[in-house]
Amino acid sequence: MPYRAPVEDILFTLEHVVGLGQALEAGKLGDLSADLVRAIVEEAGRFAGERVAPLLRSGDVHPARLKDGVVTTPPGWRELYRDWCEGGWNALSGPVEYGGQGLPTMLSVVAQEMWNSGSMAFAVGPTLTIGAVEALAAHGSEALKATYLPKMVSGEWTGTMNLTEPQAGSDLGALKARAERQADGTYRIFGQKIFITYGEHDLTDNIIHLVLARLPDAPAGTRGISLFLVPKFLVEADGSLGAHNDLRCAGLEHKLGLHGSPTCVMSYGDGEGAVGYLVGQENRGLACMFTMMNNARLMIGIQGVAVAEAAHQHALSYAQERRQGRAPGWTGEGMSPIALHPDVKRMLATQKALTAAARALCYACAHALDMAHAAEGDDKVFWTERASLITPLAKAFSTDIGVEAASLGIQIHGGMGFIEETGAAQFLRDARIAPIYEGTNGIQAIDLVTRKLPMSAGRTWRVYLGELSADAHEARAINRPDFGRIGEAVADALRHAETAALWMEETAPRDPAAVLAVATPFLRLMSLAAGGGYLARGAVAAAKAGRDDAPARTALARFYAEHLLCETAALAHQVMTSSDSVGTVDLALAV
Ligand SMILES: Cc1cc2nc3c(=O)[nH]c(=O)nc-3n(C[C@H](O)[C@H](O)[C@H](O)COP(=O)(O)OP(=O)(O)OC[C@H]3O[C@@H](n4cnc5c(N)ncnc54)[C@H](O)[C@@H]3O)c2cc1C
Repeated sequence: MPYRAPVEDILFTLEHVVGLGQALEAGKLGDLSADLVRAIVEEAGRFAGERVAPLLRSGDVHPARLKDGVVTTPPGWRELYRDWCEGGWNALSGPVEYGGQGLPTMLSVVAQEMWNSGSMAFAVGPTLTIGAVEALAAHGSEALKATYLPKMVSGEWTGTMNLTEPQAGSDLGALKARAERQADGTYRIFGQKIFITYGEHDLTDNIIHLVLARLPDAPAGTRGISLFLVPKFLVEADGSLGAHNDLRCAGLEHKLGLHGSPTCVMSYGDGEGAVGYLVGQENRGLACMFTMMNNARLMIGIQGVAVAEAAHQHALSYAQERRQGRAPGWTGEGMSPIALHPDVKRMLATQKALTAAARALCYACAHALDMAHAAEGDDKVFWTERASLITPLAKAFSTDIGVEAASLGIQIHGGMGFIEETGAAQFLRDARIAPIYEGTNGIQAIDLVTRKLPMSAGRTWRVYLGELSADAHEARAINRPDFGRIGEAVADALRHAETAALWMEETAPRDPAAVLAVATPFLRLMSLAAGGGYLARGAVAAAKAGRDDAPARTALARFYAEHLLCETAALAHQVMTSSDSVGTVDLALAV
């Protein structure tokens, strides 16, 4: 079934769950209005459904190919990319002074969700360009910005992020790519980068690489890394393209999924060195990267939501068609649609509920980033820390549930799910990378417990959980049995999260290894509990407004509370009682 953007769900989450309305009213989002937001979401959704999604399969069965140094993208992608740029979609969040529309992160994330639902392999390219634009806008010199940003914002040129090397993945301090100073103020770059998304392709005339490298006199480790802009083609003073820089795509990876996206081995400086321009200050390259990390990680989190949504729509459509057995209560002729079997319904509902929770987490993170951007003083600190706290949850939980929802999608299809023609398997294969790149989910969990919990001496997480507890209270205050169950389960889950967070605080100073051993279940616990709070908030808002969709939102929140939040007690138990056993398992091979 072709993807249809869940426009109403998206708008509901923005408006009633994460506070778009308050941000608009407070004038935090410039001259945006609710009507304009709706128009943009509808239009982006239409493009995702009508133009991007039809090429999903093409991107899977026709992987990007490398021949004689030229990378060819799947059939139809060049035209799609052209239309995408002409529609102004690449410029959505770009800085206004360089031709962008300067729209808030909330809208950028929403649009990214829909495009990634259409085709994650296609959408990941523009995601990288947006990241590169952001880094350059924040840290580039005026001359670099004037030369490169207008064309990167319009999409005429794409951008890449070159961090990873064979010996330097999670640990970027180990990277070896070299940069040498030149008399004219430029640099020459030498070295190999691996896994570079859209490092080479046929969509645009030029590709602007942002490359991390080390100067000869740089300190060891992460304090000695600098960031350079290295264009594929050098740009002349009049803006025209000059000589091919000393860089090439040395190979393409054969991957489990995301086939249409070229994942490149990039070689810099086979000859005299690739010409590079410093971005920011020498040895401060990682700091430049970190300023955009919240945003980049959120953009990968939304990929998880996107694939979960697409896998759910696909599975639901199949389950409504496929007939087997007779579901309880089925009075029709012959076999019933499998969607009516309680176990299948449970799987479909699980996909839907997890997707809704992860969507709320990602949008809440985007909202915090927008509020931080517009705020000053203490308010700015508050929203910046809120965004920092939610970022690892949004990235790791959403990408984990992307994989879970896609796997459930296969299960719902039965044997046909294992057969490629149905397309169910592609969602799982594509989704599987998201928990790995942009900082593995293990690294996200470590970030949460070592850097994010201690922010403002623990006040940041306490205030956050406190706000969500108020949602549980609001649910209970609606004097109805279903809301009572939602409120109770959410309150319990938040208590479990709080108890485990207190354990983390208390344990970290005396036993850091214990904290690291259970960081991942802790991140899951926090995310599940927060998701419950958001779904409760949505159900309460819909009921109070007397909306037609209130019964459906209440039912989904109740399903989540009863079927998914029951995990939180076990997770809290695991966090607080089992860290010791991780280190005691004997992993030696028996010979
Ligand atoms: C399809 C694809 C596209 C990519 N695109 C890009 C790109 O555009 N640009 C780019 O620069 N990179 C890109 N990457 C690289 C990606 O970001 C890395 O693969 C990722 O950061 C993990 O690094 P690694 O593969 O070296 O794994 P490793 O760092 O070797 O990690 C292996 C395992 O060890 C764990 N681990 C590592 N260190 C620790 C630690 N300190 N504590 C606890 N656990 C730890 C990890 O969580 C993981 O489970 C891409 C990768 C792929 C596959």
